Amino acid sequence: MPLKIAVYPGSFDPVTYGHLDIIERALKVFDGVIVAVARNSEKNSLFTVPERMQLLSEILVDLPQAKIDTFDGLLVDYVRRCGATVIIRGLRAVSDFEFEFQLAQMNRSITREVETLFMMTSVPYSYLSSSIVKEVSSLNGPIEKLVPPLVKSALDRKFGR
Ligand code: ADP
Repeated sequence: MPLKIAVYPGSFDPVTYGHLDIIERALKVFDGVIVAVARNSEKNSLFTVPERMQLLSEILVDLPQAKIDTFDGLLVDYVRRCGATVIIRGLRAVSDFEFEFQLAQMNRSITREVETLFMMTSVPYSYLSSSIVKEVSSLNGPIEKLVPPLVKSALDRKFGR
């Protein structure tokens, strides 16, 4: 049987426990997951794409079935180039639904070879986003429960602490 690979795309600016939870759970269903950092998310980002990839690779060091990559252009083209047929997305509160629905429909209208699969967030992470982490960290608030220690240190450095 061919290996089943899924692509998990996002900005990961920076990676949080919410992302990590989705990756670990996706690996129970797929043989491999490619965590793909979108290059078009560079503007308005706190971390550069190489910095985000570095954090991901350090955090995922014990999960060799998770590969880190970056992509440009149309997501479905990238997914096909990877030899994958599945895009994984995480769903948090209802507010994610509208956008994710549009995105999945658009990708499906481009190609029917690629399916989008959604994984529900785990309850403790349902309101966790990279943006909220950046906001709280910029104010020196507690983020220990939201991101791995390595990410916390990287945020501290960014905010000059
Ligand atoms: P963010 O919205 O946090 O900036 P990304 O663009 O990096 O996130 O998101 C990549 C994918 O991960 C999206 O499908 C997003 O819904 C999902 N995701 C992000 N945070 C969580 C979370 N706490 N629980 C479940 N899925 C999440």
